Amino acid sequence: MPSLRLETNPPVAVARPRPAPLRDRDDSDPERRAVELAQRGRIILDVSIADLEAAEAVHGAFHPTAWHFRNACHEAQRSWERLRAELGTKTLEAALSRPPLVIVPIGEDPNGRGLPRAVMIVINGRTYCLERIPGTPPAPVQWRLTRPHPPLENGPYYACRLADGSTQCDCAEWTYQIADISDPRRTHCKHLAALASLGWI
Ligand SMILES: [Zn+2]
Repeated sequence: MPSLRLETNPPVAVARPRPAPLRDRDDSDPERRAVELAQRGRIILDVSIADLEAAEAVHGAFHPTAWHFRNACHEAQRSWERLRAELGTKTLEAALSRPPLVIVPIGEDPNGRGLPRAVMIVINGRTYCLERIPGTPPAPVQWRLTRPHPPLENGPYYACRLADGSTQCDCAEWTYQIADISDPRRTHCKHLAALASLGWI
């Protein structure tokens, strides 16, 4: 039987309390403010790029609608550069890699439950549109994740919680890196980690 050794010396360093999660902090907290500005700015910029691409595809580059969205896109780019100058590239990138803090609702739930049809959040520096889709008995919780303007990237991705409580995603990170490790069903890719941080999966 292993003997129990009593600790006689006092601990050398007292463990520091964990900092409160960003969303529980006051609006004036500088770290929370930086993450909010960075994630909101990234969403606005990505949406304005997607709007411009869509307007050019539908109307051509010289139509007034395309001009309107081009101006909006330039303005979003200028704001983004101002934010980079204000915060510094390092802080900006660190803020973008934090769990999603800014949630931008889009449209209305067709079932009229007062919920948005979809939401936009930033996952690892990239904007995603998330839609909760009807679940099935084997996979009761399901989300579709799309990029507003996917440059050479596949998608949409489907992230779900299965009936046994485990999670899975069909992205490359989950399929090729996580599926090979010891307990893939309980390890998160970036998409599942974002959903889990929001308590949505
Ligand atoms: Zn994934």
